Amino acid sequence: MATRRDYYEILGVSRGASEAEIKKAYRRLARDHHPDVNHHDPDAEERFKELTEAYEVLSNPESRRAYDTYGHQVPRGAAGGYPGGDPFGGFQDIFEAFFGDRGFGGSFFGPTASRGPSRGADIEVEVEVALREAAFGVDRQVMVQAVKNCSVCDGVGGTESHTCRTCGGAGAVRTVRESFLGQMVSTQTCSTCGGRGRVVEVTCENCRGSGRVLEVEERRLRVPPGIEDGMRLRVPGAGHAGEPGAPPGDLYVTVRVQEDPELMRDGEDLVHRMRVSFVEAALGTEAEVPTLEETAPVRIAPGTQPGTTLRLKGEGMPRIRGRGRGDLKVVVDVMVPTRLTGEQRELLERFEAVSGEETYNGSGGSFFDRLRGVFR
Ligand SMILES: [Zn+2]
Ligand SMILES: [Zn+2]
Repeated sequence: MATRRDYYEILGVSRGASEAEIKKAYRRLARDHHPDVNHHDPDAEERFKELTEAYEVLSNPESRRAYDTYGHQVPRGAAGGYPGGDPFGGFQDIFEAFFGDRGFGGSFFGPTASRGPSRGADIEVEVEVALREAAFGVDRQVMVQAVKNCSVCDGVGGTESHTCRTCGGAGAVRTVRESFLGQMVSTQTCSTCGGRGRVVEVTCENCRGSGRVLEVEERRLRVPPGIEDGMRLRVPGAGHAGEPGAPPGDLYVTVRVQEDPELMRDGEDLVHRMRVSFVEAALGTEAEVPTLEETAPVRIAPGTQPGTTLRLKGEGMPRIRGRGRGDLKVVVDVMVPTRLTGEQRELLERFEAVSGEETYNGSGGSFFDRLRGVFR
């Protein structure tokens, strides 16, 4: 028998590690070493089993104590031995408890007698679009890494195969064992066929017998007009492959809408902050404001107050449900000079000297009242 590695060493934890530390270590390593992720590595499956065996023993206080005392040579009946007797017995259940039966496509273990074949796992990706792309819709290519059934062997793992004689094709075997607790009946994944129900005679070279390959696919995606940041698009059937006989998972694409330096989104409306000088605000002016398409002219009336909001009808975002578009709200921000030359100061002082209360008549009303209604 080959030398077996120390369980603590396998999990990379100290002998005094807490249950939480052991769990955390296993969770991290199991993801890294999962055979579906490392299909190119023929040793991945062995490493993964070793890892799970170590976790199973160390996560149970009784079996851990037995292991600490006796190492790998646990005497029959000592502290219950390893759970289930065979460290590989609960292998699948532990993995499922961690990642759900859809983790990584869930299909590495194959179908068992206790449940039907599992649907493939969903895949989640994100795409970033600019505000204008979100407004008018855009086609995007997304790269998706998905577990697929091997096309060469049709997911069987080999080019020629026969029904497993050990389990009769069921993929699982029932064992009855006498233990000091009485008779124990358990259902385990068939070790002859690895749960697939078929035994391969000629191993498929394309997938090295796993029946699955990790493929990077380019998917074309239509981002609809008016989409909002954080909305998810679903592409049915574009997720990981399911177990034989089960459908694949879905692809979910979360759309991230980038912020625009000039146009801020407010639901179906857009907000633009327009800066005008205090002189322009007093005298009135013509200006161009950026829109989703290009620019639009706006007229700043003489005596325009800070926070005044102009509404450009139909220049906002398209409504994702329904027709038409929202508005573009232009908020006037009045700039006050911060550095005055002697000449400017003199002119302003002269202006002030000839100004009175009547100069500012009609400018009443609160700044916050004017801003009210800009943001809902
Ligand atoms: Zn294959
Ligand atoms: Zn079998």
